[in-house]
Amino acid sequence: MTRPIQAIIHPAALVNNLLVARQAAPSAKIMSVVKANGYGHGLLRVAKALEDSDGFAVLSVGEAVRLREAGFTQPILLLEGVFHSGELSIVSELGLSIVVHSVEQIEMLKRGWSPVKLNIFLKLNTGMNRLGFAPDAFPSALATLQACAIVGQITLMTHFATADEAAGVSDQLTRFKALTQDIALPRSLANSAACLRYPETHGDWVRPGIMLYGASPFATQHADDLGLQPAMSLVSEIIGIQNVKAGEPVGYGGTYRAERAMRIGIVACGYADGYPRHAGTGTPILVMGRRTRTLGCVSMDMLAVDLSEMPDAGVGSPVTLWGEGLSVEEVARAAGTISYELLCARAERVPVVEGA
Ligand SMILES: *Cc1c(COP(=O)(O)O)cnc(C)c1O
Repeated sequence: MTRPIQAIIHPAALVNNLLVARQAAPSAKIMSVVKANGYGHGLLRVAKALEDSDGFAVLSVGEAVRLREAGFTQPILLLEGVFHSGELSIVSELGLSIVVHSVEQIEMLKRGWSPVKLNIFLKLNTGMNRLGFAPDAFPSALATLQACAIVGQITLMTHFATADEAAGVSDQLTRFKALTQDIALPRSLANSAACLRYPETHGDWVRPGIMLYGASPFATQHADDLGLQPAMSLVSEIIGIQNVKAGEPVGYGGTYRAERAMRIGIVACGYADGYPRHAGTGTPILVMGRRTRTLGCVSMDMLAVDLSEMPDAGVGSPVTLWGEGLSVEEVARAAGTISYELLCARAERVPVVEGA
């Protein structure tokens, strides 16, 4: 008997969510973002379900190698470009596209050699202040790249800091437009939130990530309402039952004390599986498809749930930590984090299986 915890991946949901992205941005090509092992869903499994994507975006050469070896021929973008000049030969060999965000990376290209021209996504810092050329450094970065022998197609790129929030994209978009208005090059700006909410950002390539996995990028809008379906269900089972008297403590630290005589279920899932330890008492959870709440501290390998109103639940009853019937966003909110972190945090020891 193996532990009952599993991450069930739903390929049909991925296919559906890609379609939602296409419908949201009908004139743009879709660069499906599959970094972080496909947001925890498994790189190749996700790429296969999303094979109709026009391109894929990853972080490392290693991920790109895996995609090419699996037969994917689409453009593959390295979202932070190369980290040292030694990576340029494999970039050239695999025909990867690379972000260029720093003068150091431009220097690598000036000194580098490639038998084929490399496609560049030139990153502008329009206000997020993370990666990219500041507005005053952008014109000379572009000119230098255009004069660089091994540089082929250049696409102008930026990334939004608040596309998912009330602040929106207008400040950054205005800056981007002012800098690029007279330049006839392709553009790529939109993450999931901008893809769904701001058609004016779509340009030539949109870069959806989280929406493809069926989570809403917006705190104020549910995934269902956007037509998105969860691509991962994290499921397990009840492995133990405790009947406690009023006032008895539950779990490490005794942080929760039974409000009355209670029936408690112990679930085979803990923080070593990627379930957030910061999810306190009251975090929603499904037992036999019905909603209940967690109790006390999440342990490394287990957590406790309230079965007081579920006399029919017992050892072996199915549990959904998140996924179909319970959005990962809701669990994330209860843990003071975002869906992205929970999906990416799925631990290696949680087997991934393909579901419907
Ligand atoms: C991760 C990432 C995305 C995808 O963002 P989502 O919010 O998941 O849609 C898009 N662009 C860049 C540069 C990224 O790093």
